Amino acid sequence: MGSVKDYFKSLGSGISSLLQGLSVTGKELVTPKITEFYPEDRDKVHPSKRFRAELRLIYDKDGNHKCIACGTCERVCPNGTIALETKMVETWDGKKKKKLDKYLYDLGSCTFCQLCATNCPTNALDFSNDFEQAVFTRSKLLKKLNYLPEKPEPEPTPEQRAKYEAEKAAKAAAAKAAAAAPAAPLKLDPKSQAALDGLKAKIAAATTDEEKAAAQAKYDKLEAALKAKAAKEAAAAASAPAAPQLDAKAQAAIDAAKAKVDAATTPEEKAAAQAKLEKIEAALRAKAARDAQK
Ligand code: SF4
Ligand code: SF4
Repeated sequence: MGSVKDYFKSLGSGISSLLQGLSVTGKELVTPKITEFYPEDRDKVHPSKRFRAELRLIYDKDGNHKCIACGTCERVCPNGTIALETKMVETWDGKKKKKLDKYLYDLGSCTFCQLCATNCPTNALDFSNDFEQAVFTRSKLLKKLNYLPEKPEPEPTPEQRAKYEAEKAAKAAAAKAAAAAPAAPLKLDPKSQAALDGLKAKIAAATTDEEKAAAQAKYDKLEAALKAKAAKEAAAAASAPAAPQLDAKAQAAIDAAKAKVDAATTPEEKAAAQAKLEKIEAALRAKAARDAQK
């Protein structure tokens, strides 16, 4: 009983699929025929807009293209179809600008993958659907896409020119002021200053010319090293973030330590008081920084 049922079921599905196929055939039987009489009616042949026949640079109605000669299309092309030649030009404000000189495209090796056009940052490329590309020699497939004469660099507007002149004058004035300003003397810490003073005393106490020259050389060497160190520290301090604010208690402790440095009578006492001051100050500032981060 089951096999008879299956038989009629498959017969029904066969007839349904046959009718489905015949409906497509019947529809095509009455559809108007499209026969292209190429090349006689080439004006009436309209390939799909998505058809990629040939890469081209998009020109606007004023004859400008948007290529900025960045070279992205050349780099992404998988088979070296694109070769760019660029040049540097000088703009009205004296800046150097890279410009496209020749955009060379080899249609013979293009695989129409469109990677070049989709990766162009300025949307300067697209594909024409001009399908008649047959030629007798391969060399004719090598094309220069920037075929229109190059436009001169645009002239600045009066506002741009005025702004540029004002900025130039301000820069020149700042440079002049910086050159004229005397360099601020570097401040040495008391320990370094004490070491230099000691050497100065030795120079003064030298009895022979040789002793004097040796002491002077030692002094010059030490002074150069200490000044270089102080300059480095000053530069680091200038670029360092602002120190956290100390509270009144911490500031009072530092002031007391500073007073002890001032009150010291001998170099040894001064050096010891200075070391203590630096230690206290470093500890208090570290604590203030930790508190600021909380
Ligand atoms: S990616 Fe676009 S802008 Fe860059 S060189 Fe190619 S065409 Fe020009
Ligand atoms: S379509 Fe593909 S193969 Fe052709 S030039 Fe562009 S990136 Fe190269």
